[in-house]
Amino acid sequence: MGQTSHAKALQHPIFKTVSKAASNLGLDAYVIGGFVRDFILERGHPKDIDIVCVGSGISLAKEVSKLLPEKPSVSVFKNYGTAMLKTGTIELEFVGARKESYQQDSRNPEVENGSLEDDQNRRDFTINALALSLEKDSFGMLLDPFNGVEDLKQKTIRTPKDPDITYSDDPLRMMRAIRFATQLDFIIEKDSLEAITRNAHRINIISKERIVDELHKILACQKPSKGFSLLHKTTLLPLILPELVALQGIDEKEGQRHKDNFWHTLEVVDNIAKTTDDLWLRWAALLHDIGKAPTKRFDKKIGWTFHAHEFVGSKMVYTLFKRLKMPLNEKMKFVQKMVLMSSRPIVLASEVTDSAVRRLVFDAGDSVEDLMTLCEADITTKNPVKFKMYHHNFKRVRAKIIEVEKRDSIRNFQPPVSGQEIMKTFGLSPCREIGQIKDAIKEAILEGDIPNEYEAAKAYMIEKGAKLGLKTIV
Ligand code: ATP
Repeated sequence: MGQTSHAKALQHPIFKTVSKAASNLGLDAYVIGGFVRDFILERGHPKDIDIVCVGSGISLAKEVSKLLPEKPSVSVFKNYGTAMLKTGTIELEFVGARKESYQQDSRNPEVENGSLEDDQNRRDFTINALALSLEKDSFGMLLDPFNGVEDLKQKTIRTPKDPDITYSDDPLRMMRAIRFATQLDFIIEKDSLEAITRNAHRINIISKERIVDELHKILACQKPSKGFSLLHKTTLLPLILPELVALQGIDEKEGQRHKDNFWHTLEVVDNIAKTTDDLWLRWAALLHDIGKAPTKRFDKKIGWTFHAHEFVGSKMVYTLFKRLKMPLNEKMKFVQKMVLMSSRPIVLASEVTDSAVRRLVFDAGDSVEDLMTLCEADITTKNPVKFKMYHHNFKRVRAKIIEVEKRDSIRNFQPPVSGQEIMKTFGLSPCREIGQIKDAIKEAILEGDIPNEYEAAKAYMIEKGAKLGLKTIV
């Protein structure tokens, strides 16, 4: 790996600017970490670029800003000794090379100034410790003290130092190892994997936000199951998402077995990852069956049941989001809704009636397509005949949704007759009957007894009012 082959990574004019700024200050500067790794892996040019220099990263950032025509503002994080600036679509992060030492109870190390080697030593993985020189005479030269390039070739995650120390010092690295293995489709070398398992309990010193950040990144991968099975294998999963682990296992009673809902769930997540990038729909896939563990029963007549698991599961989503300090906002409500409704289209698939489809669209609203996507991903049968049949059935449901929608515009349903009009028609002050009439109109529309139109709804209102003993006054 000579100088020339990697100078190619540094063709963007910004690198010459950083090089010039470093030389003005008499510092050595390097591009380090993800940018170099992703260049060698040919994963494109990342927009986040980490620069390390032997000296003050903050001064270097300021000097770079001075040399840029637009003089971008520099954000300084004094406590961390880092600085950041944006130029065009590129985000540059500057740090002075440092040496770190860790305490038992914190992932925040004590820091002192150090050499480039010290800085490479503090990096999490050999593939993240690669640096390219920005110094004029050695511009583009690769500094790879731990054979990171070889690990890239071997598709291996390995720590530069003793893995037990690396993971115990900063347990977030355990999640990062698993995330990188999933993103890059790498293996975690054996000693590292064992060290993660030994240090799994240390995850409790990591903030929930950081853990969730890594979970999001794992879920965003092409094959998230790889990450979740690694979390499971290393015993991190029960510490983070015990609800999922509780789904594992197959019980047998009187010759009746149910499927292993943990491994099924991972298949569903991989399936949905093929059809959507929506993070929250992927979360819904991950959590769609969590209500099955607490609701599992054996009934002598019907075998294994998970009665109301969708309802229980949707309640558990709230507890889980709260525990992990995830947003308790409309994203959570969306996940809850998906879990709650996750079996609805399945019931429908065998007999697609107009009224059932109208009710589905009414209840799911704008999420109805997402719900169908989830249900399609939920098909994990290994029987090819059934597989084809289930998909075919859902295709029919989707077609029916479009047909019913065109005709009846049920989505985001607004009652064609308002409560105000009901009051005016019968001369009522606010009372129970108004709600009853409104409900009756809605039911009649959903059942297909009347069209979703004003005139029909008005006539139905008068008819219903008469049945309740009300007289029209207008
Ligand atoms: P991505 O942007 O895909 O997450 P990245 O490698 O750029 O990849 P960052 O989190 O931006 O990831 O970190 C930049 C670099 O900082 C890493 O490549 C690594 O060298 C170092 N690093 C980040 N987090 C840690 C950590 N917890 N322990 C040690 N080194 C770390």
